Amino acid sequence: MGNEVIVVDNFVDGAAKSASSNEVMDVVNPSTGELIAVVGASSASNVDDAVQAAARAFPAWSQLTPGKRSQLLHRVTDLFERDLQRFADLEVADAGKPVSAAREVEFPAIADALRHFAGAARTLSGQSGGDYVTDHTFYLRREPLGVVGAITPWNYPLWQAIWKIAPALAAGNTIVVKPSENTPLTTAAFAELAGEILPPGVLNVVHGRGHVAGEALVQHSLVALATFTGSTRAGRRIAELAAKTPKPIILELGGNAPVVVFADTDLAHALPIIASSALYNAGQDCTAATRILVEDHVFNEFLSGLVAQFQGFTPMNATDPTTTLGPLISQVQRERVSGLVDDARLNGTIVLGGRALEGPGFFFEPTIVTGLDQRHALVQQECFGPVVTVQRFSGDNEGLALANGVEYGLAGSVWTRDVGRATRFANALHFGTVWINDHLILAPEMPVGGFRSSGYGKEGGVAGIEEFTRLKEVIINLR
Ligand code: NAD
Repeated sequence: MGNEVIVVDNFVDGAAKSASSNEVMDVVNPSTGELIAVVGASSASNVDDAVQAAARAFPAWSQLTPGKRSQLLHRVTDLFERDLQRFADLEVADAGKPVSAAREVEFPAIADALRHFAGAARTLSGQSGGDYVTDHTFYLRREPLGVVGAITPWNYPLWQAIWKIAPALAAGNTIVVKPSENTPLTTAAFAELAGEILPPGVLNVVHGRGHVAGEALVQHSLVALATFTGSTRAGRRIAELAAKTPKPIILELGGNAPVVVFADTDLAHALPIIASSALYNAGQDCTAATRILVEDHVFNEFLSGLVAQFQGFTPMNATDPTTTLGPLISQVQRERVSGLVDDARLNGTIVLGGRALEGPGFFFEPTIVTGLDQRHALVQQECFGPVVTVQRFSGDNEGLALANGVEYGLAGSVWTRDVGRATRFANALHFGTVWINDHLILAPEMPVGGFRSSGYGKEGGVAGIEEFTRLKEVIINLR
């Protein structure tokens, strides 16, 4: 990519369109700190143009048969698979993802999700009707809603966008996406690519600040549903704004996943999975294995095993093919992580790491903290860095209380060879996804989504397509 700075425009009604404001947002490569792109910050009127284009495209798109929509989405996927490496490399530069993970794991999984949703366009089904009143027949229609407004974060930029775009379009909606100001490149490139196949206005992308373009999108009267992935703070604001129109919303918010390790766990199997689930994407993952709870009598053995695992991860430029740990997304994010770790230093023990690295890029050492009380900020808040806390527990009740004792409810895991205990924990944990003897694995066939302050609504699976539809009851008088 050299020093060439990319200029990124909105994509509206099938064509590139500049934002009308003079404000420009810098996009920086987090591995090097270099400017790689500039993006115009859209105004409310730019958002309105995109929503109007999506509204114009909606009647024709929604009236295509599911089979035809499916065919078009498969053709988009063909192009994406052809260009997969280009997309992966763009995300490596924009989001600091280790190149091998981007090329071999994340981007093939994005293509797979696209294929899944393209096929699932044809599979919607539901309760059949019946003759519930004499001389009357009842049935249900599952209809698309209209224009969907989608807002995405920076940690999995294209992944998050596709998990919204593909099911929304499959169900017959049109969409306007506002990517994170930190990582707009792959979503912009995807809209342009898809524009070779999709009719104009079906998929639109506007870039801009959350409090301007994001809020304008959520509040727009022609946006029938808003879907958001990001922080709990912004999610609360979006819920408030959406209530004004009012419109349904899907909120995929923060997390702080517990990892409950019982003494009978096969540590040789568990430790590498737990370590890589904590450090994947430099810990900037809403389901990352961050709050590790270990049963008393294996605590020391577990901790020394985890230290050994973490020592195998060296922060490195994301373009290095051997990298397993890239940078944090920005200086702001690194300061946030440093702040939480410095605060933990006063109350607990930094067993490993704990410092930002010198030099270009926003690197932070893999970090393990012990000795913190459950009320400490690093236990209670989402850190979004290569940092874990390890706490001790004794017995099922304490393990469960510590695991559930945060405001979040996105994901968690339990580790034991005892099937009964594993199942009791899976039932009792207040998290939308629970893994048994694993962590992080997801599939587009199954719905994910949080409880409590992690939000509501599902992405993926049949439920994740149904979110983008409305149910209409029809009653026929047979006389
Ligand atoms: P963020 O909330 O700062 O920003 C996310 C998006 O929301 C960006 O596009 C931003 O511009 C926009 N935004 C911010 N304020 C807004 C407002 N008032 N109105 C409308 N839009 C607004 O989050 P982030 O820092 O980009 O991403 C990290 C967060 O995302 C973490 O909390 C993480 O847990 C969460 N996340 C959740 C999931 C999930 O599936 N639950 C997945 C990935 C990330």
